[in-house]
Amino acid sequence: MTSRTPWQLAQRAHRMNPSIIREILKVTEQPGIISLAGGLPSPDGFPVDAMREATARVLRDTPREALQYASSEGLPALREWVAAMLRGHGQQVDAAQVLITTGSQQGLDLVGKVLVDPGSRVAVESPTYLGALQAFAPYEPVFTAVDCDDDGPLPDALHTAEGARFLYLLPNFQNPSGRCMSEARRAAVVARAQALNLPLVEDNPYGDLWFDAPPPPPLAARWADGTVYLGSFSKVLAPGLRLGYVVAPAPLVPKLLQAKQAADLHTPGFNQRVVHEVIRDGFLDTHVPTIRARYKAQRDAMRAALEAHMPAGCRWTVPTGGMFFWVELPANVDAIALLPKAVANGVAFVPGAAFFAEQARANTMRLSFVTVSPQQIERGIRALAAALKEAA
Ligand code: PMP
Repeated sequence: MTSRTPWQLAQRAHRMNPSIIREILKVTEQPGIISLAGGLPSPDGFPVDAMREATARVLRDTPREALQYASSEGLPALREWVAAMLRGHGQQVDAAQVLITTGSQQGLDLVGKVLVDPGSRVAVESPTYLGALQAFAPYEPVFTAVDCDDDGPLPDALHTAEGARFLYLLPNFQNPSGRCMSEARRAAVVARAQALNLPLVEDNPYGDLWFDAPPPPPLAARWADGTVYLGSFSKVLAPGLRLGYVVAPAPLVPKLLQAKQAADLHTPGFNQRVVHEVIRDGFLDTHVPTIRARYKAQRDAMRAALEAHMPAGCRWTVPTGGMFFWVELPANVDAIALLPKAVANGVAFVPGAAFFAEQARANTMRLSFVTVSPQQIERGIRALAAALKEAA
């Protein structure tokens, strides 16, 4: 009997790593821990009644169509809805450019599959969304991290990305930093990217979750031919639906479609019909403001708690939308080492190092405020501050 495994992993499999966030979440899902680590939207915002009614209508009116295989592009009516909604945000979009995807996470994978060769360069912000690094990594790119400030990528740093297959950007309430690019920065970044002939992949799952004023128009509105735009229903309806979309310049659409066909034939047609049934008559216009109001109150609670309890030497910017605070700790504090102390005190966070493609900054952390009550936020930040003071 031999114990040698008959399986040989592909090169790309060696580029796949467990998400450090999921590993942390396992530890922190113990009872009694206040978790500021999650990236999940608040389940209080899921439109359960609207979903129940829409599901019943779909099963009553189009049961066999809804349960049959469907087109890889997505439900035509939903593609039309997405195109019209984005035109309302200033984008020039035809429904033929819209592909419905299985979450925007699938959009990231398809972009990697179609655009990245082994050894080619992919440019990202610093920090950036860990799930995008995970989606692109198996296609074996070399990552380049573009220097950023509190307003996003520095236009003068974009030349470091020259020659990359694309620059991946989150202009609205970025995961993890919470930052939102100003209109001036968007204009400057797009102008520089155009000059460098550097295409953009714009990921926008959080743009509707603004607290005071809507964010400026998307990058795709400034450079439609040079931007692939990703959107999602996860944060405005529910992530369990796994519904997102990719809007691509026309020449890319067939390849993205072929990549999608190979991946999953199509995104569940049943879910697409139910969601279209929910949103077709303007439901989101009244629903999303309720999410904004809830998240804004939680943001305010976290801001107040940080101001009241965090020791000197910590820095954060107050997010104007989305789900996250990003905290910079004193330079000598390693957030990974701090985490067990914080968990012992009853609070969890995500160390920021996971979100860097290059030159991880160990003294950073991401705090989510949306799945915890204002009272838990106050207690959690007090416990975090105590752990920090103990570590000092
Ligand atoms: N992009 C970003 C920046 C995200 O934060 C997430 C979800 N955490 C996704 C994409 C994927 O979202 P979904 O697949 O649910 O649309």
